[in-house]
Amino acid sequence: MTPYPNLLSPLDLGFTTLRNRVLMGSMHTGLEDKAAHFPELAEYYAERARGGVGLIVTGGFAPNKTGWLLPLASKLTTSAEAKQHRQLTAPVHEAGGKIALQVLHAGRYAYHPLSVSASSIKAPINPFRPRALTGYGVRKQIDAFANCAALAREAGYDGVEIMGSEGYLINQFLAERTNKRTDAWGGTPEKRRRFAVEIVKRTREKVGEDFIIIYRLSMLDLVDGGQRWEDVVALAKEVEAAGATIINTGIGWHEARVPTIVTSVPRAAFTWVTGKLKPHVGIPVVTSNRINMPQVAEEALSSGAADLVSMARPFLADPEWIRKAETGREDEINTCIACNQACLDHAFKRKLVSCMVNPRAGHETKLTLAPTRRVKHVAVVGAGPAGLSAATALAERGHRVELFEADDEIGGQFGIARKIPGKEEFAETIRYYRRRLEVTGVKLHLGKRASAAELTGFDEVVLATGVAPRVPSLPGIDHPKVLSYVDVVKHGKQVGARVAVIGAGGIGVDVSEFLTHADSPALDLDTWMAEWGVTDPEAAPGGLTERKPEPSPRQVYLLQRKKTGIGSGLGKTSGWVHRAALKAKRVEQLPGVSYERVDDDGLHITVDGTPRLLEVDTVVVCAGQEPVRDLADDLRAAGVPVHLIGGADVAAELDAKRAIDQGTRLAAAL
Ligand code: NAP
Ligand code: SF4
Repeated sequence: MTPYPNLLSPLDLGFTTLRNRVLMGSMHTGLEDKAAHFPELAEYYAERARGGVGLIVTGGFAPNKTGWLLPLASKLTTSAEAKQHRQLTAPVHEAGGKIALQVLHAGRYAYHPLSVSASSIKAPINPFRPRALTGYGVRKQIDAFANCAALAREAGYDGVEIMGSEGYLINQFLAERTNKRTDAWGGTPEKRRRFAVEIVKRTREKVGEDFIIIYRLSMLDLVDGGQRWEDVVALAKEVEAAGATIINTGIGWHEARVPTIVTSVPRAAFTWVTGKLKPHVGIPVVTSNRINMPQVAEEALSSGAADLVSMARPFLADPEWIRKAETGREDEINTCIACNQACLDHAFKRKLVSCMVNPRAGHETKLTLAPTRRVKHVAVVGAGPAGLSAATALAERGHRVELFEADDEIGGQFGIARKIPGKEEFAETIRYYRRRLEVTGVKLHLGKRASAAELTGFDEVVLATGVAPRVPSLPGIDHPKVLSYVDVVKHGKQVGARVAVIGAGGIGVDVSEFLTHADSPALDLDTWMAEWGVTDPEAAPGGLTERKPEPSPRQVYLLQRKKTGIGSGLGKTSGWVHRAALKAKRVEQLPGVSYERVDDDGLHITVDGTPRLLEVDTVVVCAGQEPVRDLADDLRAAGVPVHLIGGADVAAELDAKRAIDQGTRLAAAL
């Protein structure tokens, strides 16, 4: 008996059967754009198919050049290209999986001058103004989608996903916000839907009956001028009648100012929307967004809200996700913590997509943990992300590993991060490593501060001793009202009603979030929806309403010396969420500050040459980090090979992505 009877049951589509209810959602990795990278992309897909995924959906491929996301980005428009795609489809089939190609036309999100849309209205997130398609142009776009699907069939794909959500071209036709046409393709909801419906109809005609057509339908636009619920339902019915096999859930346009997938979004936060649509159609529906563990997926299915679940990032984090669920090893799943640091933030920087907690993602052919030919006795000092990744990867390779941690628990900075409201997922990574240490047989010494003498007998020593908070030289820094972020977040020291936070880097922002939430910070779905103004789409078009955040229990000032915007160094896909959250909590953000002193009155600062007193009860210092690596010199003097990783190596960029990557790569090389 499996605890996941719904998740693991096959789905009969009439002409083909999916082996389980899991769709690996589309994620552009950056390997799609050049056929030269297809061997690496093939291994990336094959590893996930071997791991048991039912149906893989590729990253987006444009049906013509106007639909390119970027100049020379991925497209599928010729038989020669289709032939190249056989490299991708064959290994997935060999592994018993199925794969569908996502057909994505960027419309006004195209980052190039060829862009087209329903109307010539520039997107707020793109400098290029699209050209409005003529009636003839619209017809040509419909043919392009159908031709692309036919080529996908030629390439051996089991189906296509027609990307109709997230604010891309089809979605732009559907919403009044971007479709101001008065011809046959706009002016009324029926006419705005026609483009989507014709694409599905024409595609079905071209590909025949025994080919999967997934239509990704925007159920919640989350923008002003988004679709009304009755139009969403009507579209779903028409898409079904036009020949779609499956409807997938799309949530939020890229320009929406509501987070839809970052870590602070509660798990399965939008499954209710899929459940609201499901009774209106007869074909299977897929639910999506922030589903990352088998229990969450099973609940989404057993509640009757959906027939399948879509997960994209969880398969970057762990290609073995399904196998582990099947074999009762869910505690071994390397959970996607929705940080976006190595996936979407990379995609936006046009860097190859990977995963913070699994640096092998996207590098399957290059970063391998092959069994070692010479077993070494290795000491790893420090059980934060860097030390944990190094220790477990070394042990996986067959080395004899001992891990020393001065604290009485593993996790390092992640132990602090998981206490921040909206970052609870970080606890999953600690759970994963705790189990991984057992599975790989690492000998763990907790509460043990290893000395240089104790480490000299090892063949290699990996120092992952992390960081210590920097203490700025400031008059009054010893005043009782001054605390470090470790005192506040880890040790739960009392903080007053008025607080100044010194330093607005990643930790200063996190601490401000911590201080502006009530003592019991667990975010439930209703609170989250109220905070971001998300509502039932029947109550408001696009599902968007007035934001009603819970008031902060404290007045918080967030300060930095730089004149740049607060939080400007944070990740592209999560930084704006933090900034908007702090604004909603009325955190006063002060850049360009000089710190003068702390005394009984508060924190004295100068801003733009003007002295100011912040009458605060507490000052929390988040002024960056200093590396802790005292053992290095003694060990080197004793002739022991020493490797510095993580914050002990470079504290200035203390960063879990680099730490885990460095730990894994060192382990692969030793
Ligand atoms: P950080 O991002 O480098 O920020 C340090 C802050 O301290 C800056 O705002 C800096 O701004 C200020 N500062 C530096 N020296 C100072 C001094 N002598 N006196 C006063 N202020 C000073 O470092 P962090 O916030 O410690 O975060 C480190 C890394 O951890 C980041 O890369 C981030 O990605 C990651 N992170 C970790 C967590 C976690 O929970 N562990 C959470 C979020 C992010 P000014 O110099 O302009 O004053
Ligand atoms: Fe998930 Fe973060 Fe990995 Fe992206 S980088 S897949 S969000 S854990």
